[in-house]
Amino acid sequence: MSGTNILVLVEHDGKSLKSSTLNTVTAASELAKLTGGKVHLVVLGHNCRGIADEAAKVEGVSAIISMDSQGLTHGLAESSARALHQIAADYSHILAPASTYGKNVLPRLAAQLDVMQLSEVMKIHSADTFDRPIYAGNAITTVQSLDAVKIMTIRPTAFAAATLTGSATIQNVTYTGQAERSSFVGLEASSSARPELTSAKVVVSGGRALASKENFKIIEDLADCLKAAIGASRAAVDAGYVPNDYQVGQTGKVVAPELYIAVGISGAIQHLAGMKDSKTIIAINKDPDAPIFQIADYGLVGDLFEIIPQITKELCP
Ligand code: FAD
Repeated sequence: MSGTNILVLVEHDGKSLKSSTLNTVTAASELAKLTGGKVHLVVLGHNCRGIADEAAKVEGVSAIISMDSQGLTHGLAESSARALHQIAADYSHILAPASTYGKNVLPRLAAQLDVMQLSEVMKIHSADTFDRPIYAGNAITTVQSLDAVKIMTIRPTAFAAATLTGSATIQNVTYTGQAERSSFVGLEASSSARPELTSAKVVVSGGRALASKENFKIIEDLADCLKAAIGASRAAVDAGYVPNDYQVGQTGKVVAPELYIAVGISGAIQHLAGMKDSKTIIAINKDPDAPIFQIADYGLVGDLFEIIPQITKELCP
């Protein structure tokens, strides 16, 4: 028997809450209105009281479950899933952002509970019926789940961010998980002063046409000028021009900024799956028949090596 409340797994980096959590809370609040349940957030980590305090301010949340334990220090998917499993019986729905973290943890929890996962939920029709994308976002399917507990990753770009106007209570729960067979070895994280790709208002993305890591500098200059995040096509990532956490698309990140500038990107469906919901799309490509122009609001046909430095010089002389 499952409970009636809605649980959201907080995504954080040990220092602050990731904005994708706020979008996920909005989805949880929609569910709570339909079920009459309450929204709880769970913070997993070690020495993460600051995150619990921040989470307590999220609008529409009634309680924060803080599981602060050395066994949860590095946010490993195995122990995170075990921690969620420990408290899962109290909930009818367990949600996480459809980010790298959420996609790593929730399928393990779903397996432990022997239920189906509902992935990348974009719309909530009722407590058991949801929209989610299939075929690289080319079709939307409406699915109904009869499982007692719904395990759902939420597409952050499909829901507005909850505000920080709440005042939830914090409950400490002891993590009882045993040592896992996986262990933390090291972290190689790229650090950047630029905005985070999935929450940036402006994204400048480069493709294979950049032709080298060095040439990507012109994308960086334009991004810095516009205070934008940098994205890339898979071809650019595979060629080693930029790290793979820059990848936008079906197998990369899904973004929906105010402005997306696609530079030297052809517009393969797998790339479009990650950016076609951007509010305004500008494409720069030397091929007038490139598919990217079919979804672009503004298109510029020409050589990016001439156009991009000119735009940057014009905007940020
Ligand atoms: P290309 O297709 O080679 O396009 C380069 C473009 O640059 C061309 O349109 C060309 O006209 C233009 N160009 C060349 N020189 C210049 C110049 N000097 N000035 C202006 N324009 C120029 N791709 C993703 O991006 N993200 C994903 O998540 C993703 N997931 C995938 C998953 C699967 C299962 C598969 C099979 C593929 C996936 N792909 C993904 C790959 C995708 O199919 C394409 O191969 C890739 O997006 C192509 O990248 P691109 O547009 O940079 O390169």
